[in-house]
Parts: sequence; C-alpha cells; structure tokens
Amino acid sequence: MSPPASPNPLDTPVTAWRRIGAERLAQLARLNIQSLGDLLLHRPRRYEDRRHFRPIAELQLGQPAITRGTVVALGIKRWRHGRKSVFELILDDGTGRLHCRWWNLPFMEKYFQQGTEVMIYGRPNSLKPRTIDHPETEAVDAGEETFVHLNPPVPVYPLTAASPQPWLRSLIWRTLQQHKAHIIEPYALTPSRFPGEPEGVRRTFRGPVGETRTGGMLGLPARADAIHMLHFPEVLADAEIARQRLALDEFIGLQVEIQTRRKRLQTSARALPCVGDNHLIRPFLDQLGFKLTGSQTKVLREIRRDLGGTQPMRRLLQGDVGAGKTVVAACAALMALESGYQVALMAPTEILAEQHFQTFSRWFRLLGVKARLRTGNRKSSNLEPQTSNLDPDAATQPASRNPPYPVLTIGTQALITAGFDLLNLGLVIIDEQHKFGVVQREMLVRKGSYPHLLVMTATPIPRTLGLTLYGDLDVSVIDQVPPGRGRIKTFVRAADKLAKVWEFIRGKLEQGRQAYVVYPRVEESDGGELKAVTKEWEKLRRELAPYAVGLLHGRLKSEEKEAVMNAFGGHRVHVLVATSIIEVGVDVPNATVMVIESAEQFGLAQLHQLRGRIGRGAHESYCVLVADIKTEEARQRLKVLEETTDGFRIAEEDLKLRGPGELLGREQSGMPSFRFGELARDVSLVERARELASQIIG
Ligand code: ADP
Ligand code: MG
Repeated sequence: MSPPASPNPLDTPVTAWRRIGAERLAQLARLNIQSLGDLLLHRPRRYEDRRHFRPIAELQLGQPAITRGTVVALGIKRWRHGRKSVFELILDDGTGRLHCRWWNLPFMEKYFQQGTEVMIYGRPNSLKPRTIDHPETEAVDAGEETFVHLNPPVPVYPLTAASPQPWLRSLIWRTLQQHKAHIIEPYALTPSRFPGEPEGVRRTFRGPVGETRTGGMLGLPARADAIHMLHFPEVLADAEIARQRLALDEFIGLQVEIQTRRKRLQTSARALPCVGDNHLIRPFLDQLGFKLTGSQTKVLREIRRDLGGTQPMRRLLQGDVGAGKTVVAACAALMALESGYQVALMAPTEILAEQHFQTFSRWFRLLGVKARLRTGNRKSSNLEPQTSNLDPDAATQPASRNPPYPVLTIGTQALITAGFDLLNLGLVIIDEQHKFGVVQREMLVRKGSYPHLLVMTATPIPRTLGLTLYGDLDVSVIDQVPPGRGRIKTFVRAADKLAKVWEFIRGKLEQGRQAYVVYPRVEESDGGELKAVTKEWEKLRRELAPYAVGLLHGRLKSEEKEAVMNAFGGHRVHVLVATSIIEVGVDVPNATVMVIESAEQFGLAQLHQLRGRIGRGAHESYCVLVADIKTEEARQRLKVLEETTDGFRIAEEDLKLRGPGELLGREQSGMPSFRFGELARDVSLVERARELASQIIG
C-alpha cells in the first residue's frame, strides 16, 4: 500500500461549510450527501430547457411540460380534523390559468406567496380547469447566480421533500467553482497507454467552458470536466457523455476490485487436490437411472480439470431451469468426497435445502456417503434422513463437530453463521447463486482455507451483468435440456377468465396431473398479502374439491413447509397454492400446470423461473399467466413468455425493460449499485472497463 495521500478537499464534510444551516444539512444527509465530493456526484434526475416554457393555454392532457406563471390565488382546505388536506395554487401567465394541487402536504403552503413567479413541471391531469396534481415547482427568482437556474439545460436534482432546487443548484455551482481543480483522475490512464484505441473512438464534445475539445481517456472528457458537464452541460448530449465518463470510472473501480480478488487468490492460494479417483462417481452414475447429457458431461470435465488444478476452482455453472444442474453438483461433490474432503452446499431457501437433502440422501445412501442438513430452524437434529446404517449415533452428534469421515453438509444461510466450521472443507457449492451476494459467497468460502467453489444459477445473465456480478468466475454453461421433456405452452389470460382456468385444471387433475397456483410474494412486513393467499387457498379448496389443495408460503414453520412439500411430491396433495417461494429449485415432474396470478407484478425472468417448475416430466405442460393488463406495453411484455422459453432472450428483455435490480430479484444483495452506470445500456463501457482494469492491475 502506498502512503496516504495528502487530504483531498473534496473529502471535507459538508458540515464544515459554515454557510449551510442545520435544516439544509439534514436535507443533504437524507440525500446521502456527506462530503463535498458526494455533492459533486449528486446526479441530476433530468434537465430542463427553460428557454421554452409552454404557455398555460397550450398544456396538453397527460403530457409532461414545463410552464411558468404568477401566483394569483392560493389556499388550503382541511377536513377530518385536519388529517386530510388539499393545498391549491392558481397561476396565471396571461394565456390561461393553471391549478396546482397537493394532497395531504399542508406544509407546501409556506413555500408560496401571492404575486411571485413560479416554474412548474408536471403532467396535466385535467384541462377543465387546467390542473396538475403534485407538480414540481421552483421559484423563478432564485437570488444569486440567476443564470445557473435559467441557462439551458438546467439540472433538476433528486430531492427529499421540499428542499428547494435553486439552493442545491447554486451550492453545487459554487462548490464546482471552488474545487474543480481538486477533482483528480482516479486511475493513471492516459491515451498514450492505449495505442490500440482506434481513432474513431475519439469524439469531440463541447467542453464546459465552450471550446471544442478532443477527449482525454478513450475519447471521453477528463473527470473534472465530466463532473462540470454533468451539472451544467451546454447541450443535453454533453450530459450523456459526462454520464458515460463517470460510469466508466465506476465500472473500472468494480473491475479492479474483482480482478484484484481473483489475482490474490491465484497467487496466494494453493488448491486442495479434489479430483478423486472415481470410486464413488462410477457406481453413482450406474445407479442414477438416466444418462448424463452431452452438455452435463462437458461441464463435468471442466469441473474435474479445475478440481485437479493448482488454483482453487472459481466456477459459475449456468443452466436454464430444469437443465439438470443438481446432478452435476452431486458429481462434483463426489469428487471432493472421494478425495477425503468435506463438501458444503448452500441453497437460498429452506424448502430447496430440504429438497436437496432428500435428493442427495437418496442418491448417496447406496454409496455409503452421508448428507446432513443444517438450516436456521434445524440445527443438529439430523445427520441422516431415514436410515443410519453406517453410524448409529450419527443423529446424536452435534452438527458443528467435524465428522471424522467426509460428509456433504446441506444448508441455507445458516451455513455462514459461526458455529459451523468445517475443517478440511474441499468444495463449496452454492445453488441459485443470484439469490446470494458476493459477500455471502466470500464468507462461506472463508470457512475453509480456500476450498474450491462452484456456484450455480438458472438466471440467464446477460453479458454485461455477468461481467459485473461474476467477473471473477469462470463460466460453464449447460445448454441442453435432458431428453424426454414435454413442451410448455404458455397463455396470458385476463382475470375474468379464471372460471375457465379452474375448469381446465380440473381436467388435468382428472388425468392424474398436479398443478401449482402462484400468488405474488408474501411480504415480511405486512400481513395483507398473506391474508390474500390464505383466502385464495380456501376458495380453491372449495372450487376444486374433492382434490386436495395445499398451501405454501414463507411464514410457515420449516416442519409445515416440509410436510406440505412431501405431500405434494407424494401426490397426496394435488394442487399447491404458493407464493413465489417455489421459484427456485422445486422439482415435482408430475406437476404440469401452473397458474400465476397477478402475473403483471412479476419480472419476466422471475416468471420464467416459476414456469421452470413445470415441464419436468414427459407430459405436455401448461402455464397460464393471469394478468390485469392495463397498457399495451404490459401486454407486449408478457407476450415474450408466450413466444419463447429461451431464458437468455427473456433475461435480455427484462434487463431492458426493468433494469438489473428487478431481473435479479429484490433479495439480490450482491448487485453493486451505480450512480452513473446503467447496465442495460453500457455493455461496451463495461467491457472497456474490464480491459482497462487488467492493464491497471498489470
Ligand atoms: P436445475 O438445473 O433447474 O437445477 P434439476 O437439477 O432440478 O434442474 O433437474 C431437473 C430434473 O431433471 C430432475 O428431476 C433431474 O433428476 C432430471 N435430470 C437431470 N439430468 C438428467 C438427464 N441427463 N436425463 C434425464 N433427466 C435428468
Ligand atoms: Mg436447481
């Protein structure tokens, strides 16, 4: 590490600025602005061209516009003992009058005065009279530095309630004047370090002071110029160029981190020899009952090479739902077990951990290999599910004690917690990796001294996202589905067709099939949806009698979840009403129908995951997406699922439509957040960042 550099003035906390009062400081804190540097990186939400105000008379229904006028009347109405209120402001610009209304925000009253001029941005929701509810507003008289607030394009910032735009804009302007020279390039990259960069990449842009410049790094402006252009661009296009430059810095930062981690591993860690000698795998494959697909075999070869290599494996196994990742994981586990090392497998939910435990116990029993389960709720009660022919007191051993023989430990997040410590841990497998963050992954790996790591995911990750999330992993793909699978037909239906849908399900139940009915996730924080799913379950029980309908949601106790899953797997329950908790991993091949209610509330990738629970047996499967479709866009979105079962296409579509956070699910904690980077658009920036980072690291 180099000695600490002299303090950068941009690290100065905003609290040190004497001109900022306490109320304003609190507002900045709410925006996560702690230092002057944070202030300069506060990204405008949009830009306004204030040369072109729309006359009030020309406002169009539903179309966002900026207008201005003089306050001619204002007043507040309260009712329900003051708990409800509406504050109304009437503006006039000579062409017409505009009513602005704020509901239940009585304090708005103190920001306006009769006779002052106000700018308004918003979407008219009525033309008789012309009305905008909850518009954004700004006083025209901004005091100092008026040009900063009027020169186009003017930045408009994300603000918490009622902190005035002009104040923040002026503050940023003044900070820039004073400190622009202190903005340093984070990486010592100069164009001369990139002789290969084609000339075409260099573009010209208007510098912040008006002269035309040729770009610095990769044809993008210097960081200091970029920050200036971000806030006060001369033309709108410059703001985008600035964003790209700042995004590139973010991406480089992340890639440097990822590649450093990887490099440290390569130089400092010695791999444990886990390649095995086939004495377990061979009988395992013989008794399996099916042949591995070509794709599975290819992936296993890659894993075997890693396990016998000199550096610990860091591999991502990607394969669409139902591609058969579990059996590959089992083979990898057996290699390490054969070599005399412990193996840990981590799953994101108890249901999935339980299911893996059942599967692996069944597979491994004849081999004399033990699996044990460890989840939040079940700490030590089980070392073996049914039989314990090898070690009679296994069940009484505390799970945290290291067994003297190689064991596969299956669990949830609980595997990360203290208490669990496996000496001799040779391989860590993480299923449905997208549900875990990088941090959790690292924590589990640190349980052992550099065990091999295999992470598995069914979410097809578009390339940008892959480089960002998994840049430090090698990738294997299972791109072939096991043979003998029935097709899945998908239909989108409006809620008023539900009666027909239940009729259809009944028909399938009569043929001996089973069905899932899925409702949006039960949120931990409020009981509303839980009530909803419970009510639906009661309704369906009546609707589909005499067939047995089970209920599964995240708030059940582990034993209850286990019982209902067992009953469904054993065909004693015919229909399973569930929240999206069944999204990952659940494997019941006889279930061939899935109805997803309120499908419009789910992301496409998530719907695809859910749908992956069916189509696992030889029978044709049916997925019905029941949706409340209000817009053509929503309709188009769901149509993608009717048209394709190609997970990659669906994921790309989802990334475009909803962004990476939604694609990966809300619980994704490993997703780095970017201020400027936009993964759906910045493919080439991410790739450049990756190259630049490897040059930086050398
Ligand atoms: P996923 O990749 O979604 O985790 P699973 O591992 O759960 O998929 O596999 C889905 C189903 O396919 C399981 O019932 C599994 O036993 C079965 N399966 C896996 N590989 C094959 C194969 N090569 N031939 C036939 N069935 C297979
Ligand atoms: Mg799986």
